[in-house]
Amino acid sequence: MMISFEEASKIIGNAFRQLNLTTEKIPFDKALHRTLAEDVLADIDLPPFNNSAMDGIAIRFNDKIRKWKIAGEISAGNYDSYSLDENSAVSIMTGAKLPEYCNTVIPIEDIDVNGNKAVLKDSAIFKIGMSIRKKGSDLSKNEIAIPKNTYLQPRHLAAAASCGKVELKVFKKLQIGVLATGDELIPVDEKPTGDKIRLSNTYALLASINELSMTGINLGIVTDKKELLLQNIAEALNSEIDILITTGGVSVGKFDYVKDVFEELGVDIKFWRAYIKPGKPIVFGAFDKGNKTKLIFGLPGNPVSSLVNFEIFVRENINKIFNQPERERVKAVLQNDLKKEDKKRYFMRGILIKNNDGIYEVSSAFSQSSGNLVEMSKANCLMIIEEGMINPIEGTEIECIMI
Ligand code: AMP
Ligand code: MG
Repeated sequence: MMISFEEASKIIGNAFRQLNLTTEKIPFDKALHRTLAEDVLADIDLPPFNNSAMDGIAIRFNDKIRKWKIAGEISAGNYDSYSLDENSAVSIMTGAKLPEYCNTVIPIEDIDVNGNKAVLKDSAIFKIGMSIRKKGSDLSKNEIAIPKNTYLQPRHLAAAASCGKVELKVFKKLQIGVLATGDELIPVDEKPTGDKIRLSNTYALLASINELSMTGINLGIVTDKKELLLQNIAEALNSEIDILITTGGVSVGKFDYVKDVFEELGVDIKFWRAYIKPGKPIVFGAFDKGNKTKLIFGLPGNPVSSLVNFEIFVRENINKIFNQPERERVKAVLQNDLKKEDKKRYFMRGILIKNNDGIYEVSSAFSQSSGNLVEMSKANCLMIIEEGMINPIEGTEIECIMI
């Protein structure tokens, strides 16, 4: 039951949309890159008082009057009241509260000051109401400062701070378990001998999960023994995780038990194998536990395949449901011929640059073998070679996902 990329995407996208996102309250200054689960309202008018937008003098506007006697000084946070008339002014600093009587601020650059006398320069623009930030002009009390579902960036934390919102309700991070399978895998701090290799997939996946502000849980390595796989995967399915990602053991090799094990443990397999390269052997399913549905990804063990699968099927959906900025996509001109003789959708590793004319160019000097992880680490994009495109030649326009 091999399916197209589009079908696979649709099935996985639907499953992600059905995830039951729960919420939690956290200190606002810990909420960077989380997604807001409530509207944040202003608890006061912002700014809370009329204040000066410039360093200068505050006056009551009268078109006929061009010089003033400076009666005093008000700086930000140090309001003082003065008795004023149209011929007098106060020296005022940015952010300082504007005296009730005044309605205009003239920037310091636009006046000549001599002792306690200020005279408007001829070159000055002179308009009633200028250089003032009105009370509530940013936001009025009880208006929405940050809407629900906002992906929180530094600027939003500043907005929350201004509103005195010390705790924010955000969507909980998804808990994503990563389990590696393979008799050949050894921990990274050991030197491989014979036919062993160091575990690497787990780290690319956990780092990607972290980058998405989700919680990655390293479930370790399990060997290709069916009994052990049953035991480890059952444990993972019964834990609190929202998503399980396994790597390895989903192809058609003699010891590729992962899919069978999923089935035996009651995972509802939605599809096995997608018509893509790399990453074809992917198996995807759902597992109901209590009233919660977990998403189950069996990714192939090839380091490039597992990471590409994560990019196109997991990251995109997490970006969508958490309102995160998605990977940038650009159209680029191919700089060398590529070999693609079948009608799979390919995600080839490439190097993307913007040339001096502002046009994107993409080249691929890579072997494109799905085992070459270090080569992949030099790429900065995935080139999407669509199903219908056969052996694209230099000059072809290719859509690229920046990674
Ligand atoms: P498999 O999908 O289990 O057939 O594995 C395909 C290839 O990926 C084999 O060459 C494995 O040795 C390699 N591989 C599997 N799992 C990992 C892993 N976690 N880290 C690095 N390489 C792996
Ligand atoms: Mg294996």
